[in-house]
Amino acid sequence: MTEDKRSETREGAHVLIDTYGRVATDLRVSLTDRCNLRCTYCMPEEGLQWLAKPDLLTDDEIVRLIDLAVTHLGIEEVRFTGGEPLLRPGLVGIVERVAALEPRPRMSITTNGIGLKRTAAALKQAGLDRVNVSLDTLRPDVFKTLTRRNRHQDVLDGLAAASDAGLTPVKVNSVLMPGLNADEAPDLLAWALEHAYELRFIEQMPLDAQHGWKREGMVTAQDILASLRTRFELTEEGAGERGSAPAERWLVDGGPQRVGVIASVTRPFCAACDRTRLTADGQIRTCLFATEETDLRALLRSGAPDEEIAELWRKAMWGKKAGAGLDDPSFVQPDRPMSAIGG
Ligand code: SAM
Ligand code: SF4
Repeated sequence: MTEDKRSETREGAHVLIDTYGRVATDLRVSLTDRCNLRCTYCMPEEGLQWLAKPDLLTDDEIVRLIDLAVTHLGIEEVRFTGGEPLLRPGLVGIVERVAALEPRPRMSITTNGIGLKRTAAALKQAGLDRVNVSLDTLRPDVFKTLTRRNRHQDVLDGLAAASDAGLTPVKVNSVLMPGLNADEAPDLLAWALEHAYELRFIEQMPLDAQHGWKREGMVTAQDILASLRTRFELTEEGAGERGSAPAERWLVDGGPQRVGVIASVTRPFCAACDRTRLTADGQIRTCLFATEETDLRALLRSGAPDEEIAELWRKAMWGKKAGAGLDDPSFVQPDRPMSAIGG
């Protein structure tokens, strides 16, 4: 790939392209690094050193960066995440303003579901298309051990509210942990099918703040599929249908319902990655596992015009590495945990 390729255009907009020819069309925006849960695979019981308010992008700054991403960089899809994005006071207003952009990107949110009961209808009204709710267990006691908070019912209520509000398809993300909820895969799938939620299991990744992840201690995609097959018949969907989606999908008992497995560790999908990430403090990351960031906030606050900011974003994308390198013995876990990057 030559440097000239970087000025390739798509429908008139310069796209975000890297040296391997991958084009990013999916922008993950972290709205906060704070959270009201303490999932053991994500952060320690005492929480983390949260970003200071002046370091966070303001609502106006976030909307401006998304605006220039859709108008100058070919971004087609925006996913709000965190930390817990529902903790961002201006969330509904941000969604409303992004929904008014031309071209209008598809918009979804990844949330732990707490507070969704209250905000689902307003988010739908503002223009949000869909939600991904994270729920790892159907057992309130296991939920409490796993998240260190007694909020299981709030998540179930949030899911129901999202469904009622039409934030569909409602997707559910589950991480399985040995000795805690690893035996729950078939129960979670039966429950998801009953509620018409699309369930996706995510392999635990080395992105916890405590750096406690161990490959030999994780539940693999293979383990999950074997467990599901004790109760369901699974048929793999054609490889061509995966596209850039990280989840490999299986039809359950002949379909049409499906289950997804995101094998980020054992079967990484880096070659088809179409993502770029913006942290709550205005840094671009080309990968969850990147060890380098590009500071858009400083440029933004210096009064730079859109095109200059877009060019820095393109440069960052151009340097995107081929893969996360989890299998490489020299792999180093990034300094920022998942909650501060935006999962
Ligand atoms: N707080 C929101 C939530 O939990 O959905 C959004 C942020 S959270 C970091 C996004 C997703 O990352 C969640 O589905 C969560 O389960 C997942 N996650 C967090 N830490 C992880 C890890 N170490 N490995 C795999 N997935 C992880
Ligand atoms: Fe919070 Fe999401 Fe991390 Fe759980 S996974 S602690 S809900 S940011």
